[in-house]
Amino acid sequence: MKITNVRLGRISVPLRTPFKTALRTVSSVEDVIVEIHTDCGAVGYGEAPPTGAITGDTTGAIIGAIQDHISKAILGRDVEEFEPLLQSVQRSVVGNTSAKAAVDMALWDLYGQSLGVPVYKLLGGGRTAITTDITISLNDPETMAKDALSAVARGYDCLKMKVGIHPELDVARLAAVRKAVGKDITIRIDANQAWSPKQAVSLLNRMQEQGLDIELVEQPVKAHDLTGLKYVTDHSYVPVLADESVFSPENAMTILQMGAADLLNIKLMKCGGIYNALKIASAAEVYGVECMIGCMLEAKISVNAAVHLACGKGIITKVDLDGPVLCREDPILGGAVFQEKEITVSRDPGLGIHGIEAGYLVYFD
Ligand SMILES: [Mg+2]
Repeated sequence: MKITNVRLGRISVPLRTPFKTALRTVSSVEDVIVEIHTDCGAVGYGEAPPTGAITGDTTGAIIGAIQDHISKAILGRDVEEFEPLLQSVQRSVVGNTSAKAAVDMALWDLYGQSLGVPVYKLLGGGRTAITTDITISLNDPETMAKDALSAVARGYDCLKMKVGIHPELDVARLAAVRKAVGKDITIRIDANQAWSPKQAVSLLNRMQEQGLDIELVEQPVKAHDLTGLKYVTDHSYVPVLADESVFSPENAMTILQMGAADLLNIKLMKCGGIYNALKIASAAEVYGVECMIGCMLEAKISVNAAVHLACGKGIITKVDLDGPVLCREDPILGGAVFQEKEITVSRDPGLGIHGIEAGYLVYFD
């Protein structure tokens, strides 16, 4: 199975409601789509969302990295020389993890197809279904309580609340949501780097003292501030999950060696795809640190790849793959079935993506 062409396009999928975090507000998913074509007719699919505020990867950067560097490293080569291909993707250009992730997953898709095996089985195959949380956008306390109630009405029992704009309001946001949903719903929070280390400890401990029962906090402090992250981990009652602080396997090793976080959040777009995600998962497993699998605001092709990873690796115990259920439409044919919180992996060979509904994909060439 030789690689003959790498085609790029884009899709636009509207969100149900605008998505607000401490870093940005967006109203639709605008992703780059990668198709890797082969001499036997098989096509591998990949996807990358431009998340300049998080990864630095804009649409233009993703396209440029793939066209000018990554494609050139893989064109004409055989999918059967799989690990060398994955390594070539990572070595072809510095940074550009979203572009690398899109190509990496398309190669996993093709490798699985060439063997007639779904990717989650290649990765270990421990389970075929996972349960995701859903994100509640950052708003005033009343709006967040209302959004939380409607998520619970849709069947979600784990809410991920965005916090961090006007930190003095964050305790009130949590209190309003906890009061609205009752004690049986799990609440995790994501501050997206908004707090100082001491502010984080003070806020988190106040939340727990008020009985708000926070399961974990994501990225309380600045991404680069691992000492601050460790301070929060050491002094807060709430378990700390590193997100923006862990892009690469090297970042993960540093955090694990420092004991700077209780949990790691793996996202394909941060680490450059499944190949590197596996290294982070293995390192975490060695240290006995559980992982969350997360996504950006992404449509189903790339989130589907994350589903395969989560179904393959037992160290991934927490799932935050709500990209597709936040979208108003799903133009992706095949792949995992997203039934609100229940996600069932596709058992078709590769990643199980069959194509994109007519009218959604606009090719760049
Ligand atoms: Mg996060």
